[in-house]
Amino acid sequence: MDLTPAQIVHYLRLSQLEPVLRSEAIWACVHCETCSTRCPQEVDVSKLLGAARVAAYRAGYVAPNQAVAAYFASFLENLYLYGRSAELPLTIICKLKSEDYFRDFDLGLRLIARGRLNFLSLPKGGAIYRRLYERVRQKEKEAGA
Ligand code: SF4
Repeated sequence: MDLTPAQIVHYLRLSQLEPVLRSEAIWACVHCETCSTRCPQEVDVSKLLGAARVAAYRAGYVAPNQAVAAYFASFLENLYLYGRSAELPLTIICKLKSEDYFRDFDLGLRLIARGRLNFLSLPKGGAIYRRLYERVRQKEKEAGA
């Protein structure tokens, strides 16, 4: 990571967003929550990094690792469509965005064989979440966010 969690918190305390939003660290975090659990100041660094990633994405900062950026954008679209992670659409959207169609192909076949990527079972009730997202977007627009 180019910035440590402590450095990120320090920048944020100084209201210096730019170095944080441009950092590789916010994209490298896998939200294992080790730092949040162990922080002596009880800072939830994992959540901070997640929020920074969303802010960077919205501000148009490009993630240094395109695979991570493709996954992140795909995951957000997946949440918008289904309200939660749906592995098959997530995989398809991510493959299309990354234009990396055949990496992990063998793994995908094994997951399909074990029923982990199910073509017939998609989450239901996504329309509720889409309405919720639209309301939040509308509120953000009204608030000038
Ligand atoms: S949540 Fe885990 S991966 Fe993310 S910064 Fe903390 S320790 Fe690192």
